[in-house]
Amino acid sequence: MLVEVTPWYAHIANYLVIGEVRKEQQGFLSHCHENACGGHFASQKTAMRVLQLGFCWPSLFKDAHTMCKSCDRCQRLGKLTCRNMMPLNPILIVDIFYVRGIDFMGPFPMSFGYYYILVGVDYVSKWVEAVPCKYNDHRVVLKFLKENIFSRFGVPKAIISDGGTHFCNKPFETLLAKYGVKHKKGHRVLLYDSKLHIFPSKLKSRWKGPFTIHQVHSNGVVELLNSNITQSFKVNGHRLKPFMEPFSRDKEEFILLNPHQA
Ligand SMILES: [Zn+2]
Repeated sequence: MLVEVTPWYAHIANYLVIGEVRKEQQGFLSHCHENACGGHFASQKTAMRVLQLGFCWPSLFKDAHTMCKSCDRCQRLGKLTCRNMMPLNPILIVDIFYVRGIDFMGPFPMSFGYYYILVGVDYVSKWVEAVPCKYNDHRVVLKFLKENIFSRFGVPKAIISDGGTHFCNKPFETLLAKYGVKHKKGHRVLLYDSKLHIFPSKLKSRWKGPFTIHQVHSNGVVELLNSNITQSFKVNGHRLKPFMEPFSRDKEEFILLNPHQA
């Protein structure tokens, strides 16, 4: 069955039926920010449009601000200004197997029932441990850490991940706390590309990425990780700005079992 994108008025219909907004708030906000009359309005105007539709909730203006700030398209607009500049914090020098970066790659076309590859890279030796997996959830991460990392290389001092929910949840934090591992979320940034003038996309954005920061050097050079996280490249830190993770789009993924399996 083909599942279409929920029409924007679904939120209003839901509101009329159940009389609550809670889950519908994001729908209102993104409709009023993106879809209404050309769109991508600033937060104040977005909130005003929600009010014009006849809806309101206590954190409306705050939510509108958060959503507009983290809108992917809006972040890629505009030019490089001093306002965008990243604060540069050098990273401490670490020893082998002290710090491990961890990330999912994929989804890829299915192979032997697997869609993802979970990769753990040692920051100093660049030693890569990888396992194929069916899901990109926290259970896979916990199993991987215990079986492939902790038992074989010892417990690292820190693990660096992106801010995804498979790395930011209670079981993951509990495991790390138990072993005394620090969890650092890698900063994700957008890179300003001043040299390219022709873009294939309609959106003529010079902001590329997001990329995860691998290392910050004292001379202002920042090393970014490629999407395959095993290679890095160096850029001038002045050409980066922090990337805001999309507003509540990063939800925990639920794996639904078939009734006969449950
Ligand atoms: Zn926008």
